[in-house]
Amino acid sequence: MWESCRALATVLGPKQASLRGAVIVAALALSACGKVNGIDVAAKNMNVADTNSIEIVGNGMWGWVGQQYSSTTPWVQIPVSSYALTADYTAGASHVLMTRTEPTEADDVDKAQNLAFRNEYFDFLRPYLDEYQSGNLAWNVMAPDRIRTRPDRVDERLAALRSTPHGFIKLALEHQARFRKTSNGGDTTFMVGDQKYYGRFNAQGDLELVQTWIDYPVLGDMLIETQFEDYKIYDGVRFPSRITELSGGWPTLRLNITSVRANVPVSVTVPEEVQNYQEPPINIVSELVAPGVWHLRGGHNVLLIEMADHLVFVEAKEAEDDTQAVIAKGKELAPGKPVRYVVSTHPHFDHAGGLRAYVAEGATLVTHAANVEFYQKAWSNPRTLKPDAMSRNNVEPKFLPVEDKVTLSDGHRSIDVFAMRNAHHNDDMVMVYLPTGKVNWATDI
Ligand SMILES: [Zn+2]
Repeated sequence: MWESCRALATVLGPKQASLRGAVIVAALALSACGKVNGIDVAAKNMNVADTNSIEIVGNGMWGWVGQQYSSTTPWVQIPVSSYALTADYTAGASHVLMTRTEPTEADDVDKAQNLAFRNEYFDFLRPYLDEYQSGNLAWNVMAPDRIRTRPDRVDERLAALRSTPHGFIKLALEHQARFRKTSNGGDTTFMVGDQKYYGRFNAQGDLELVQTWIDYPVLGDMLIETQFEDYKIYDGVRFPSRITELSGGWPTLRLNITSVRANVPVSVTVPEEVQNYQEPPINIVSELVAPGVWHLRGGHNVLLIEMADHLVFVEAKEAEDDTQAVIAKGKELAPGKPVRYVVSTHPHFDHAGGLRAYVAEGATLVTHAANVEFYQKAWSNPRTLKPDAMSRNNVEPKFLPVEDKVTLSDGHRSIDVFAMRNAHHNDDMVMVYLPTGKVNWATDI
C-alpha cells in the first residue's frame, strides 16, 4: 500500500503533471494510504528537494513581542506596507526587509489597542527594518554604514527560517521525522538539538501549522506558532497565501502573500563587525540621588533604595544576567541587606525580563494589580531551554498588587507606589515617590 501510494505521488508529481494535479494526488494519498508519509507528499507538492531558496513578498501587520497596551491585549500592532523575506536554505541564511506605516482606525486590529498607543510606538519606530541572519549570527542594517549585531535575535530568526513551509519540510526530512496520520491529515514532532518542532498537515497534504519554542526571559519557553492558509500557485510554486505568526500567543506577523519565487539568487554576506562581535561587559554605574537612594545605569535605568534592614529596587533590566549585576552593585553600595521588594513600573519586556532574578533573591514583586495574573501565567511556563535561578530553585513568586496606592515603609523612610491613570504607553503602570528626598520615578511616559 505504501509503495503504491508513493508510486502514485511520483507518477503525478509536480515534475510530471501540473502542480494542481499534484495537489489532487496529495489529497488522494492522505485519504487512501494508511502508511503514506505526509511529509514526503508535502515535499513533492512544494517541490522542496529542488528549492534551494525562496523569496516571499507580501503585506499585512507586524507585532512587537513584549510591548503591549495591557497584559490582556496583543503586542502593539503596526501595519506593514511591504514585506520581503529571502530564505537561503543551502546557506541557512535569511533576510527580511520591511516597511511599516502609520496606524489608522481603519486597520484590522484588536479594538482594545487604542490608536494613541499604536501611534506612540510608530513615532518611536524606524519605518524600515532590514534584518539578517546567517547560521548563528544575526544583525540589522540600520543605515548603509551602520550595522547592529543582534545575538539576542538569533533564536527567533533561525526559528522563522525553519518555520517557512520549505524550511520546515526540509528540516523534517533531514531529521527523519516520523509522520503520524490523523483523521484529517497528519502531524510530526521532532527535535533539533534542544529545540522542539511540531508540524501539522491537512487532508490535502499541505502544511498548515508549525510550532516551536524559544527562550524569552519573561515567558520562558515561548511558543512560536506559524499558521499557513489558502495555498495557491505563485510562479509555479505552491505556497500559502496567508501566513500568521503568533509569539507567546499574540500575533507578530499577519501577511497576505502577493508573490513567491523559488531559487532566487541570494547572497547574505556576514559583515566583518558581526563576525568579530564581542558582547560588551555589563557595567553598572551608580549615582547617589538622595541619602540611601541610587540611580543605577548601564543599559537600562534602575532605582535602588536602602531601607533600615533591606533593599528595594525599582525596575528590572531585560534579562537575568544584567539584573544579577544590578543586584550585586546594590549589595556593594548597601552591604548586608536582603532584597525584599522589586517594584515593576509596567510589564514591557525591556523592563520585566530581569524581575525573576530579584524574585529568586526572595523579593516580593510590587506591580499594578492588573498584571499579577499575567506574571503568574507567564512564570508558570516551562523553562527547559534556559533555566534561570528562579526555576532551578523552584522559587514561588510573591506579589504585592497595587490597586490605587501602596506604601512600603521601614518606620523611617516610606516609598509610595501609585497606580497611574490614562497613560498611552501602558494601561497598567505604577510610579514611585519617595517623600523623604523628594525623588519621583516614572518610566516610558
Ligand atoms: Zn514600556
